[in-house]
Amino acid sequence: MENLEEIKQKANWCLQCKTRPCQEKGCPVHTNIPEFISKIKEEKFKEAYDILQENNIFSHICGTICPQEDQCEGKCVRAIKQVPTSIGYLEKFINEWAEENNYEFEYKVGEEKDKKVAVIGSGPAGLECAYELRKQGYKVTIFEKDEDYGGILRYGIPDFRLSKDIIQNIIDKLKKMEIVFRNNTCFGKDIKIDDLKNEFDAIFLGIGAEKPSTYDLGDFENIYDSDTFLRAYNNRKYLEKLGDVVVIGGGNVAMDSARAAIRMNAKSVSILYRRDEEHMPARKIELEDAIKDGVIPVFLTRVIKGKGTGRKLEKLECIKTEIIDHKAIDKVNSEFEYKADSVVFAIGLKPNKELLQKQNIELNEYGLIKVDENCRTSIEKVYAGGDVMESKSTVCRAISSARIAAKAIISDLESR
Ligand code: SF4
Ligand code: SF4
Repeated sequence: MENLEEIKQKANWCLQCKTRPCQEKGCPVHTNIPEFISKIKEEKFKEAYDILQENNIFSHICGTICPQEDQCEGKCVRAIKQVPTSIGYLEKFINEWAEENNYEFEYKVGEEKDKKVAVIGSGPAGLECAYELRKQGYKVTIFEKDEDYGGILRYGIPDFRLSKDIIQNIIDKLKKMEIVFRNNTCFGKDIKIDDLKNEFDAIFLGIGAEKPSTYDLGDFENIYDSDTFLRAYNNRKYLEKLGDVVVIGGGNVAMDSARAAIRMNAKSVSILYRRDEEHMPARKIELEDAIKDGVIPVFLTRVIKGKGTGRKLEKLECIKTEIIDHKAIDKVNSEFEYKADSVVFAIGLKPNKELLQKQNIELNEYGLIKVDENCRTSIEKVYAGGDVMESKSTVCRAISSARIAAKAIISDLESR
């Protein structure tokens, strides 16, 4: 176990505020922060774990990967004059303690109901929605296009940031609740909304954002998008002969891709980002970890196009930028070349617009599914949550939207 004195010191830093801004304004799933921390102060770790799990079965994942500085810890009153309470660290500690001590939280199923719900996608939004519904006794089937379950948790976030065992543990427990899991079932091809509506009383779409953004660098081999690249790493199908790798982007996915490239034996790995460090969306800690791994960040640089022999990429033509009014503007006559054998685009993922349009579901101007405040879509009995209806979502926010959708589904099913 970690140093108990240190854990208690961190717990004692919490002032147990009555107004609890960390919980109410910071945490998307409203974790009962003062209570679980007060249990740590009393060394009642089982009770702390129960409080966390009762509210959020993804607590271990959230404690590990939530951007706490923007969520719970960002609203901690301690941060106004000093440093915030280490909420994420304490949440992770309690979950690790439970694992080491084989202490489990039981997922319970409510009184069986005859209504059936289809959940499309087994990422955090799909799993959370399925759990909330099954907890109330509804019959739930999860459809997943991939072989394994977990979506972005399994195929997007690398194991050096989040252990696959944590995800598998949650899925195993959901299976024990008799949630039905169907893999290798592609939405839009194997299953369609109209068909599902005949069999199910409600449908939840948690299919995430799966279309990577890229732009044309020319016709070269070894140009990847982050989705393909991270899947190769996560499936242990390592890409070979990567050579000097350039990752284009500045978010956490860019950091993950760069660190995965190091582990796939790249000769060198650089991140080329068009803005400066201050404007980088990646968490500070992720950038620091990437640098520790040997990744070279290059700021204020825009990649224009590739150069090489035939289809073999050899270098990138770039231009220096400067920040004016928070925007990256090209600097005149500052073009230069950067050595690159492989490129990974990590500049964002979007929902698959064509696929959704074929299902006649209404989208907003950003190509996301249009929902009301209760996550109801334009189609009756169809709801959505996570990255498919919210851009730049976090795992915790995806869980939060799925919970809202589950509430709406329950309320609609009860009133029918
Ligand atoms: Fe913080 Fe995430 Fe835990 Fe909420 S779920 S308290 S945001 S670490
Ligand atoms: Fe504790 Fe900070 Fe939350 Fe106050 S705001 S209860 S100090 S974690």
